[in-house]
Amino acid sequence: MARIISVANQKGGVGKTTTTVNLGASLSYYGKKVLLIDIDAQGNATSGIGIKKADVVKDIYDVLVNEEPIKNVIHQTSRENLDIVPATIQLAGAEIELTPMMARETRLKSALREVQNEYDFILIDCPPSLGHLTINSFTASDSILIPVQCEYYALEGLSQLLNTIRLVQKHFNPDLEIEGVLLTMYDARTNLGADVVEEVRKYFRERVYDTIIPRNIRLSEAPSHGLSIIDYDMRSRGADVYLALAKEVLENDEGK
Ligand code: ADP
Ligand code: MG
Repeated sequence: MARIISVANQKGGVGKTTTTVNLGASLSYYGKKVLLIDIDAQGNATSGIGIKKADVVKDIYDVLVNEEPIKNVIHQTSRENLDIVPATIQLAGAEIELTPMMARETRLKSALREVQNEYDFILIDCPPSLGHLTINSFTASDSILIPVQCEYYALEGLSQLLNTIRLVQKHFNPDLEIEGVLLTMYDARTNLGADVVEEVRKYFRERVYDTIIPRNIRLSEAPSHGLSIIDYDMRSRGADVYLALAKEVLENDEGK
């Protein structure tokens, strides 16, 4: 059965999508079968892994709102063992449309049951908010991976995120865990980076991954080619670190 991991932080631009796509690609590189779920109306994971929006007939919106079977919405990517359920801008309406619906918090969970046996990992790229879509993602997940950008006020907003996790644990998913906290966009040229690392480690302790993601230009270029870092530039620092992160995730998973 797949381990289902939400990649979440309600702040935008902290590296959620970059992490979802490249961790997913790295896990597939190690032979795991991976399904990415794009649940952000921006659709950055979708385009970033090379799915053209024009080729998307149905997407995660149809799964959540119209109960379209998820199997009908899965696209293969150019990478073996890496599939994706895409998102398009129509998902923007879902936050409001889900409000009056029956079982609105458990729709993704129900949909994933159908494919959970076919993958080793399902990674969900969450939107930058704590609304219905994120709640659906947390309710469906075994755990949450939290990317934290190495910047001032890195911890700001995380108490809200932890509070949402607690609420979901209480009402919908008592087994939900924190998969790990990932420091992203580290810049060795500034002292700031080191301070933030220390602060986040003090707060989250052993839940912080040893792997730290540095700023790497290749990581920011890869999505415009519709490729993960593994296929765009295997020899880059970005590929090294996401492969190292995948190893940590696999080791943690074996310990469970
Ligand atoms: P989020 O999904 O949290 O909004 P993204 O993953 O889209 O964040 O990252 C925001 C921007 O920063 C994107 O343009 C992405 O290409 C870039 N980026 C993310 N991680 C890195 C990194 N480690 N080095 C350089 N650029 C990065
Ligand atoms: Mg994103």
